[in-house]
Amino acid sequence: MKQYQNYIDGQWMASNSNEMTAVLNPATEEKIAEVTSSNNEDVDKAVQAAKKAFPDWNKMGVESRLEFLEKLYDIIVENKQLIADTIVNELGASQSFSESGHVPLSINEMRTMLDDIRDYPFEEKVDTALIQKEGFGVVACITPWNYPFNQIQRKITPALIAGNTVVVKPANDTPHSAILYAQFVEKAGLPAGVFNVVTGSGSTVGDYLAGHEDVSVISFTGSTEVGRGLYNKASDTIKKLVLELGGKSAMIGLPGADKYNTVKQSADTVLNNSGQTCAALTRLIIPEDEKSDYLDIIKEYYEENANVGDPTSSDTKVGPMVSEKQKETVMEYIQKGKDEGAKIFIGGNEIEGKGYFVEPTVFIDVDNKMTIAQEEIFGPVLSVITYKTVDEAIEIANDSPYGLSGAVTGPNEEEALEVAKQIRSGNVYVNQGPRSPRVPFGGYKQSGLGREVGIYGVEDYLEIKSIMLPE
Ligand code: NAP
Ligand code: MG
Repeated sequence: MKQYQNYIDGQWMASNSNEMTAVLNPATEEKIAEVTSSNNEDVDKAVQAAKKAFPDWNKMGVESRLEFLEKLYDIIVENKQLIADTIVNELGASQSFSESGHVPLSINEMRTMLDDIRDYPFEEKVDTALIQKEGFGVVACITPWNYPFNQIQRKITPALIAGNTVVVKPANDTPHSAILYAQFVEKAGLPAGVFNVVTGSGSTVGDYLAGHEDVSVISFTGSTEVGRGLYNKASDTIKKLVLELGGKSAMIGLPGADKYNTVKQSADTVLNNSGQTCAALTRLIIPEDEKSDYLDIIKEYYEENANVGDPTSSDTKVGPMVSEKQKETVMEYIQKGKDEGAKIFIGGNEIEGKGYFVEPTVFIDVDNKMTIAQEEIFGPVLSVITYKTVDEAIEIANDSPYGLSGAVTGPNEEEALEVAKQIRSGNVYVNQGPRSPRVPFGGYKQSGLGREVGIYGVEDYLEIKSIMLPE
């Protein structure tokens, strides 16, 4: 079995903790690798390496940095099958979603950013002043397990383009993708210290890294609860924060909307990746008097598309949950839904045997005040909520502490757009409009701060200096 060390200052380094953490395959419960359980000393080394590498990396200019990142991009493309397989093994995403979702997302977002940034004004004039945009310093990138490769890509590509150096602390459940990233960085020949990976637990090394006095930016994706703690941590040395947190997004089918596509759009987000997607459309909000037609379509859609099982099989849409703990969390939410009076329409049970599998579940008769409609479940669970007027539908959609995504479908695109404009969230889809890799992603309210992806994603990693020059 493979054992992996930290990647610090361009080298693979053992920790003096002498402890390892097992990486499990959530479909088989087999141990597939071991990574270092790091301690604060490892974090110190990584931050110091990044701090030391920063001045040269920042000063060399974007053209030179892009040369390194182009090499890294080529290596990622060459290794796309390895990345897809690694994601299946450590996360349990279905092979088809890993290959058609996870990996192309990373490649397309990185490609677009490398192309678009060439025209970006890193220096510009405002009256007689020169405005210079440059890196902050060391960025702590703390990433979750649900899109283990792309959550790293979304942070390190813009942070490095902007002139920062990075220390990545990946999720303990899926560190293998981060190790791959470090191997690719090493192959691409990035200068030592520009990119570092320290594996270990969030509550110990993640917490220490985020509070480190030599870290200038905390870029975090994960739960709102941990994000709130990091917000406080940032205050000591006034760190910049980029937070991509949870969501409880609404899919509104307006009266007369295309029901099949409405169901498909929301159901796919709770079936792919086993529903472990922050932007999943977990609340399906439909007209009361169209409910029975919707239920027929939901039933049929799930019969044909909700196959649970071995993620490597081509028939599988829904793999296991990432961990036993996540499976328990999902089962607790399902129980809470039943206890609070929602009705199970499909599924609702755990699946016994090896692997952390849960039945794809649809609740009906859900009131938006219920826990299952307010809190992020992060599992294959859909809540169907009905409304009488469009104003009520908008009110329900916005009655959430979150504001990450949303969708509206309707027979009249203009009307759907008017509704989309009233949704308080960072992303809204109208009639299945596509998303390009250029479009900013991020949340309103407790879904986060800042934006990732595209030029907006780079700007969050840029400091702005005004240099006043004589006339
Ligand atoms: P999490 O606890 O917020 O973990 C995300 C990352 O933060 C992991 O690397 C984690 O390390 C680290 N971390 C945990 N506690 C920390 C602390 N005190 N200081 C610094 N870093 C810390 O999320 P999770 O446990 O993976 O999942 C729980 C919930 O988070 C999910 O159910 C979902 O609601 C939400 N979530 C949202 C997204 C999103 O994209 N918005 C992604 C994933 C999860 P460890 O792995 O060692 O815990
Ligand atoms: Mg956690």
